[in-house]
Amino acid sequence: MSTSAHTQQQSMTPAGSALSAQLAGESEELAQFVADFVAVPSVTGDEGAAAEFLEAWLLQHDFEVTRHHISPDDLERWPDCAGEKDLDARPNIIATLRSPNPVMAPVVLNGHIDVVPTGDVSRWTRAPFSGERSGGRIYGRGSSDMKGGIAAGLFAVRALRDAGVALPFDIEIQCVVAEESGGLGTLSLMRDRPMPAAAIILEPTETRIVTACGGAQPFTVDVVGKAAHVGRPWTGVDALDKVLLVHDRLRRLEAERSDRLSHPLFDQLPRKAPLSVGRLEAGEWRLTIPDVAHWFGRIGTLPFETINDVRAEVVAAVAELASDPWLRDNPCVVRFDGPGFAGWETDATADMVGALAASVSHLTGDPTPSSATYGSDAAVFAQAGVPAVLFGPGSMSEAHCKDESVDEAELTYAAQAVAMTLAQLGDSESFRSTHERTRA
Ligand SMILES: [Zn+2]
Repeated sequence: MSTSAHTQQQSMTPAGSALSAQLAGESEELAQFVADFVAVPSVTGDEGAAAEFLEAWLLQHDFEVTRHHISPDDLERWPDCAGEKDLDARPNIIATLRSPNPVMAPVVLNGHIDVVPTGDVSRWTRAPFSGERSGGRIYGRGSSDMKGGIAAGLFAVRALRDAGVALPFDIEIQCVVAEESGGLGTLSLMRDRPMPAAAIILEPTETRIVTACGGAQPFTVDVVGKAAHVGRPWTGVDALDKVLLVHDRLRRLEAERSDRLSHPLFDQLPRKAPLSVGRLEAGEWRLTIPDVAHWFGRIGTLPFETINDVRAEVVAAVAELASDPWLRDNPCVVRFDGPGFAGWETDATADMVGALAASVSHLTGDPTPSSATYGSDAAVFAQAGVPAVLFGPGSMSEAHCKDESVDEAELTYAAQAVAMTLAQLGDSESFRSTHERTRA
């Protein structure tokens, strides 16, 4: 054991160890709860039944429960989410654990109850919403992403309450809808609730502590050529040839960015901020030289970059193709036609990160901060200045895939780590003094 891990272990509170033991005794109940939760389908747009399931469980276990509805105004405020429907039937569900003496802003645990569609059901070996338990795993859509994480958070907070741990902050467990379609559940909730002191987003990280995340901007490049009969191609300009120049230039942009940009949590990745083409389109008829072509793709960003900076780099790179006489006279058009999301990063010295690292060390896990390259609700918190981390059971390599599953032992481990972290934050003078409410 390293010296620093040893120090962290010594600093674990007695309450932390007791919580860990208590949750170990509840592992069967936790696994069955996840199985039952997975068995209530909640594909984005149709989360009502899962919200009711959760609410019923919370009331049965004496939680204070609030239903929060996304308001129709929110659709105008966030136009990227304007397609959301049936808002009355899809509430966010919030469970609150009150502090006897809340001198600080609340600490939030956040997870989405919506899941992505199953895809071709015939490719699953088990029914996607069976919640079947087998070989120490729970199977079904949403088991990893992220009903397992929500369950770990709920059991962690219930254990804190049952153990009588008094914290100086309220805990809000936000179980939100509409994450997979753009994040309106959390966006709307953040506007209506007090700004938290810290947030753990319980996404599947294989219980790694993720403190930094890349962003992405989708875009399209339109290229024109000049149609001609294939028997006389020299009389036209092939738009496919021209769009391949675009692709080439964009690939070089990715390489240049990779050389120029550096971030300790991204430098070891094979590609730090990937640029990719998802679809390439040219022409419409086998016997005609294509007169239009389109490049559809996206570019990744690092946490310290703004979306506008990256957009400007793409535009400048494509503009350089004016060295080609045809493209000088017929410039490519770049369209940023999908919602971009910026990356984010939480300082590794934040109390939240330290408490989580100490808890994970105590449980003999790996406390090294890590990075992610996918969008999540953590961005909403981080961009509002709230120290946020991703931490949860399950794996992104299970998420959105057939036969999605989560490991039962990992659920308990995550619940223990979250409970210990909250207890540790409750004891932290530094956390308290940073986030103490100013008294009137
Ligand atoms: Zn997710």
